[in-house]
Amino acid sequence: MKLYLFDTESREKREVSPQDGHTIKMYTCGPTIYDFAHIGNFRTYVFEDLLRRTIQFFGFKVQQAMNITDIDDKTIRGAIAKNIALHEYTEPYRIAFFEDLKALAIQPVEFYPAATEYIPAMIQMIEQLIEKGYAYRSEGGSIYFSIRKFPSYGRLSHLHLDELKLNASGANEADEYQKDNVADFVLWKAYDATRDGKIYWESPFGLGRPGWHIECSAMATQLLGHTIDIHCGGVDNMFPHHENEIAQSECSSGCRFVHQWVHVEHLLVDHKKMSKSLGNFYTLRDLFKKGYSGAEVRYLLLSTHYRTQLNFTFAGLDAARSSLQRIEDFILRLRGIQTSALETHLIPKAETEFKTALADDLNISAALAVLFDLIREANGLIDQSKIGEIEAQKILQMLESWNTVLAVLPLHKNEEIPLHFIQLLEKREEARRAKNWRLSDELRDEILSKGFLIEDTPGGARLKRKP
Ligand code: AMP
Ligand code: ZN
Repeated sequence: MKLYLFDTESREKREVSPQDGHTIKMYTCGPTIYDFAHIGNFRTYVFEDLLRRTIQFFGFKVQQAMNITDIDDKTIRGAIAKNIALHEYTEPYRIAFFEDLKALAIQPVEFYPAATEYIPAMIQMIEQLIEKGYAYRSEGGSIYFSIRKFPSYGRLSHLHLDELKLNASGANEADEYQKDNVADFVLWKAYDATRDGKIYWESPFGLGRPGWHIECSAMATQLLGHTIDIHCGGVDNMFPHHENEIAQSECSSGCRFVHQWVHVEHLLVDHKKMSKSLGNFYTLRDLFKKGYSGAEVRYLLLSTHYRTQLNFTFAGLDAARSSLQRIEDFILRLRGIQTSALETHLIPKAETEFKTALADDLNISAALAVLFDLIREANGLIDQSKIGEIEAQKILQMLESWNTVLAVLPLHKNEEIPLHFIQLLEKREEARRAKNWRLSDELRDEILSKGFLIEDTPGGARLKRKP
């Protein structure tokens, strides 16, 4: 079965097919580490994880880079306001970001390049652009990309340069700006002592720092090559960021930059984009404090198709919790089956339907509908004793394989410690209370010899599997 994905540039679903026949080269715009990421950002990252896992499910390898933006207007402003070094300012947010990825079961990717580590690659790209006549130096010493020199500028976001009134000032120095402000954009910002404090880098163009857009072009091509298979980001990245990435990368290398562009719709709150600037955001930490789990947030974020806006509500999060509970009840029911019965049609049907749903531009709602139909039908059959132990085990194996994509099914929650060992532990606790040290030691040794560790916690002793 082939995997199809909607490409923003051609506006059609196209087959996912690695240029080299086996490995998809994927670039995903990562966080700007000037603050904690909010769950709107994580909608995009959770989708990108779903995509990565789906590509693997369809038999390809993935080589992915997600950049960490530690140089931009916001990180520099933050460090200067606190009067600390840039790295000191960004580091806690970088650490928090990786903790959050883990809590959301997002698979680690191959490369996490930070902008500060790739300045030479950025300088090299800017030099090539100047040499080839695509970039120029302004009076203030900054280097700009001349969008008039790249006739297909605007092809991703479907803008037509000849129909646009270009920004009267002719150049745009901000990292982020809107479509009504199309203009030449900055590649290298000349140092300004009042604005930049002590934060600058040396370059052949003088002291200064790279613009945000060149960071991604340089890191993507350096790590993945001139042409990458898939480039992702949230819809707000499409213009100007991705448009500028195309211009810089293609003009410097002379090669097509990206085969497929994938953009994730926004997470909204009260029908407005969740964002720092509107103040209508939740971090993962906020939701943990309210008692929700990483799995519940992941389920909520991935259960709506990525090209549909998703309005965040606590009712939605509670619904995610109930869905996970329903799945868990089903898993426990399957595990309890010990009788035998003839196999039914359930598995082949569900297996094909689940994969077909994903193959169609990651139609996650359809894929989850297959799961819940399976639960409904199987529960009906279990009620009539028509599912035997062998089929129950096979269904569990199928869920394991689906979980390589979903990474949210509660398959390993309650099974880790078999009941027998929990009972042994209880006996040991009893023996200790009765000061029967010989028996308590014997029980401890038996537990340890079977591959478990005993952890003494304020809430009592607990078992853990030895790593
Ligand atoms: P930033 O740190 O602002 O550069 O954003 C990091 C990623 O999160 C980008 O791919 C953005 O497009 C994405 N993003 C930002 N806000 C939202 C939102 N409300 N919903 C979905 N994705 C978002
Ligand atoms: Zn980017």
